[in-house]
Amino acid sequence: MRRVGVLALQGDVREHFATLENLGATPEKVRRVTDLDGLDGLIIPGGESTTISHLLVTSGLREPLQDLISGGFPVFGTCAGLIMLADEVLDGRSDQWSFGALNVSVRRNGYGRQIASFETPIVLEGRGTVLGVFIRAPRILRWGNDVEVIASHDHGDGEHPVLVRQDSVWGCSFHPELTSDVLVHGLFLDALQEALR
Ligand code: GLN
Repeated sequence: MRRVGVLALQGDVREHFATLENLGATPEKVRRVTDLDGLDGLIIPGGESTTISHLLVTSGLREPLQDLISGGFPVFGTCAGLIMLADEVLDGRSDQWSFGALNVSVRRNGYGRQIASFETPIVLEGRGTVLGVFIRAPRILRWGNDVEVIASHDHGDGEHPVLVRQDSVWGCSFHPELTSDVLVHGLFLDALQEALR
């Protein structure tokens, strides 16, 4: 049984729990450093990246997590969680920081404020289609050659990645936990399983 932490400082934790349980994994809330013990991977949920970045410091989780991620610990950031993992954050608040674990540049609220939320089918090449729920979502504007693009979306101005992976670090612009689709979490869990072999 894979034990997957869900960072529970702020954001939509409950929905990630439900999706992980549907897939037969064991979710665990991560609020303090000792909660990281024995986990196979971690999800950083959506919410507000400025708040999450602040709470990661006050909880003491920033440094241990940075070390784990550098050591290849599997981590998956959704929406604000993607912002937390990115190398570069555009339109960030001056006091926010990110782990710099994913070779992408993201723009906060990069799909525009006037259309701040939308839903659209997202095709995962060769794997199926999910409903992408975008809520003040970050837009991936630049991505390195070392980043695998698993799904993209054309919002009227060309294709931009919305689900990416770089080794053990995964990021998603939309909210895969807000629909009954389990495909995206399933891919992350498959990768966890491989890492455990
Ligand atoms: N715009 C938010 C941020 O900057 C992210 C929104 C979300 O996670 N739904 O953190």
